Amino acid sequence: MSGHNGKFLPVPRPETEGWWENCRNHKLMIQRCSDCGEFQFYPRIICAGCMSGQLEWVESAGRGKVSTYTVCRLPVAEAYASDVPYVVALVRLEEGPVMMSNVVDCDPESVKTGMLVEVAFQKWSETVTIPQFKPVAERTTQ
Ligand SMILES: [Zn+2]
Repeated sequence: MSGHNGKFLPVPRPETEGWWENCRNHKLMIQRCSDCGEFQFYPRIICAGCMSGQLEWVESAGRGKVSTYTVCRLPVAEAYASDVPYVVALVRLEEGPVMMSNVVDCDPESVKTGMLVEVAFQKWSETVTIPQFKPVAERTTQ
């Protein structure tokens, strides 16, 4: 993707500024519950599993699998006209949480459910760096 003028950019807010700052530093942060150990994304003030308020921020390994996806062929606005076709996917991180993002750096037609991906940060503005995902080679068992 190239050029981001006219695109819909997320607006960091006081409660999300720290998360965006980590993205700018190419760190994908998720929450882990200190009581039950579950990971979660998007950020919440309590654990979605056990309702505990004891949450900590940890860095995700940034790897996961495509749970499902679609190939967008019609731009949602003129600013996206040069981007189509592009992939919008739900990626299940190794830690468990699911993130909606794009799968980039590959032919959109090559994306498959179960495909191994890793985070690929893309700077869209001075404040917004987006965590997207790109394919990784199949791991061999040893
Ligand atoms: Zn919990």
